[in-house]
Amino acid sequence: MEESILEKDKKYIWHPFTSLRPTMEVIPIVKGEGIYLIDDKGNKYIDAISSWWVTIHGHGNAYIAEKIYRQALELEQVIFAGFTHRPAVELAERLIPLLPGTFSKVFYSDNGSTATEVAIKIALQYWSNQGIKRNKILAFNHSYHGDTFGAMSISDRSIFTKAFEDKLFEVVFIDTPTEHNLAELEATINKHAPEIAGFIYEPLLQGSGGMRMYEAQWMNSLLSICKKQDIVCIADEVMTGFGRTGKLFAGEYMETKADIICLSKGLTGGTMALGVTACSQKITDAFDSEDRMKTLFHGHSFTANPLACTAALASLDLLLNPECLKALSFLTESHQAFIKTLNQHAVIKNARSLGTILAFEYDKGDNNYLNAIAPQVTKFMLAQGVYLRPLGNTIYLMTPYCISPEALQRLYDSILLMIDQI
Ligand SMILES: *Cc1c(COP(=O)(O)O)cnc(C)c1O
Repeated sequence: MEESILEKDKKYIWHPFTSLRPTMEVIPIVKGEGIYLIDDKGNKYIDAISSWWVTIHGHGNAYIAEKIYRQALELEQVIFAGFTHRPAVELAERLIPLLPGTFSKVFYSDNGSTATEVAIKIALQYWSNQGIKRNKILAFNHSYHGDTFGAMSISDRSIFTKAFEDKLFEVVFIDTPTEHNLAELEATINKHAPEIAGFIYEPLLQGSGGMRMYEAQWMNSLLSICKKQDIVCIADEVMTGFGRTGKLFAGEYMETKADIICLSKGLTGGTMALGVTACSQKITDAFDSEDRMKTLFHGHSFTANPLACTAALASLDLLLNPECLKALSFLTESHQAFIKTLNQHAVIKNARSLGTILAFEYDKGDNNYLNAIAPQVTKFMLAQGVYLRPLGNTIYLMTPYCISPEALQRLYDSILLMIDQI
């Protein structure tokens, strides 16, 4: 008898962020349709976390699919050193005016981790190209910037990085800014400034660190402190970009703008892997030289892949459509109203929202990533036809923008049922 997909999966596949002795069986998904994932038994689940925060326009979007198909027949891939193509150029041309800040060039890579790796390499080389020794990175406690070595180094030391601790480079970590700690942060930054090349931050929302939110006002002050010290400011908008926080980019909430911005996840509407690292003129000027040693020696096989760039262009068309912008405000307002309901439950702590993201802590057991409540919540919600993947006891919603009012209500109702039953 032929082995089932599940049996073959068990035999051959190593899943991300998953023990080889998993607590839950994986679910074979055969189709994605709008906000729904459909499994091999025909069960439908609301994808309430947009398949790891990427699927902003829902699954199986025909408009994006058609554009990818047509591009695949024309040019599916070409080496991007020595060659160029319309989708890459057009995407850069359309992105730059939309970004929060004044950016001059776009560097393409493959995903969020590579986008941040490229950003820190650029920030470090920006100084070395000028013959100035500034070689430390400043980052936030609880930060997450990806899983490759550089990205791990600039991320909070946690269970994710434990096995590699002695291989990670030294970083100056600070807390996210508040009204109360700003003076202290300023003192720390000023003390280390002569050595600090760049500051990388997830603007207003630390995603993987537990959907931690902080205020724009204090972040704006922190950014001006960094700017005064000539620290290269790197906004990691891999997760917050493309409408997630209610505005097109979270950087729009702050007056002081980044010098470098990192994008991925929603960039292609979640259809293909693509990373962007955009830089201001000040940054690119340090590389603009006859001296070949000042080149940024970095690239990937699939840099600026034409299919991925085409998907990103199609996703932008959809995102900038007034219908989508209306959906963003609808989600934002609905979440704000639902927080009032959540606050009536003693077991819910710190219910909060930022644009299309809603999060709260479920006050059961320790607050850590391995908290046993997470798989329990996932199992319970699957039975309700909803896919959630809590970060420890932090539960969050991050749906595709196209969720209907009825489906959103069903999602809220199933959360309330969960609070009632587990
Ligand atoms: C997910 C994420 C990354 C890493 O992106 P990958 O595509 O998963 O490598 C980097 N930064 C932030 C803020 C993220 O949320």
